[in-house]
Amino acid sequence: MKLHNKILIGLIAGAVVGVGANFISAKTGSTAAVDLVRRIEPVGTAFIRLIMMIVVPLVVASLMLGAASLGNLATLGRIGSKTVAYYMATTAIAVSIGLVLSNIVRPGAGLSQEAQTQLLAEFGGDADSRIQLAREAPGLIQVFLDMIPRNPIAAAANGDMLPLIVFTLLFGAATAALPEDKKRPLIQFFDGINEVAMTIIKWIMVLAPYAVFALIAAITARFGWDILKSLLIYSLTVVAGLLFHAMVTYGFVIRGFLGLSVTGFFARIREAQILAFSTSSSNATLPVTMRVAKENVGISNRVSSFVLPLGATINMDGTALYQGVAVMFIAQVFGIDLSIWQQLTVVLTATLASVGAAGVPSAGIITLTLVLVQAGVPETGIALILGVDRILDMCRTAVNVTGDVTAAAFVARLEGEQLNFQADATPVET
Ligand code: ASP
Repeated sequence: MKLHNKILIGLIAGAVVGVGANFISAKTGSTAAVDLVRRIEPVGTAFIRLIMMIVVPLVVASLMLGAASLGNLATLGRIGSKTVAYYMATTAIAVSIGLVLSNIVRPGAGLSQEAQTQLLAEFGGDADSRIQLAREAPGLIQVFLDMIPRNPIAAAANGDMLPLIVFTLLFGAATAALPEDKKRPLIQFFDGINEVAMTIIKWIMVLAPYAVFALIAAITARFGWDILKSLLIYSLTVVAGLLFHAMVTYGFVIRGFLGLSVTGFFARIREAQILAFSTSSSNATLPVTMRVAKENVGISNRVSSFVLPLGATINMDGTALYQGVAVMFIAQVFGIDLSIWQQLTVVLTATLASVGAAGVPSAGIITLTLVLVQAGVPETGIALILGVDRILDMCRTAVNVTGDVTAAAFVARLEGEQLNFQADATPVET
């Protein structure tokens, strides 16, 4: 059986076991069943650690090779500007979808006063700690300064992707400028590291079906389904927006621009999508995203090694869309009417806030508070949506990762690359 099918079975079985345990605990009034399921969670945590362990060596080796093969800073600048422009445009579209949908559905209008009071009481304390974290966030100028590492080893050790990417790009570009005999050993060395990292990922991925089972079972076992009931319309609005963005916006790029079948494309990156869904982390999924982009979609290392790590760090369409819906929802619950200008500001701030969100679980709700403050909506409102955040985080992370691979395919095509699965896809225009 193919690995991605096994992972899918792990996901479904995990959900069945987790929901079952949750149900039994609710019926019997004892947490024994949930506690039992939660005991297997370390299997999932171990798996996430194993892949996280590969992120830094893989990104450094592969990005260094990619930058070295680009040849010079001008090419790097060309690909870089295309990538960032694409990322910003699709993210702004994603927020707009979230806003339009929330104006139509008005998810916040249906929340009862009773549910509102209950949610604020239950999650108020939790919300305060996130708001505190957001207050500690650096300002815009500091964000740009932080992109330049004072010490690249420290950036790698702390897992600070953006400064690490900046340093590695410069290192690779400088390598390209060396005479042949000087650059050959360096390239061979990093090529060796890249191959080793890829081999380790293949080994780790054998565990993926079991890890996904454990992660999903643990999450669904302790999930508060009662909360989902009162936030159902809000949650469905987010999910509908995410599906729309994936099928229509990415669908337009995949079919209209790349001339490929949308379902064929998604089938090839399914492993990364499921992993993003299970781990709620673009960073933890990155090694697998890079592997499927290269092996299954046929994007060159030159493009994917640059576009994907950058995407996992700054391109979060799912997060931005969710932030658009969340701002509208909270405003509607509090009876605040956001004017069209305020909503246009949300497009800008949510785009930036999603860039600022790290590729780790729950990062999006922390930067959401910045969007709320800008829009004049009380930040304490995040207490209203915290109860369903984990589930929505899973969905938005899957979209974030899908957006990264779509972007890599887009840039690869702009760079004149042929993607390797056109033979079995629907009509191809080149
Ligand atoms: N978990 C998301 C990601 O890693 C970020 C978020 O919280 O929205 O892509």
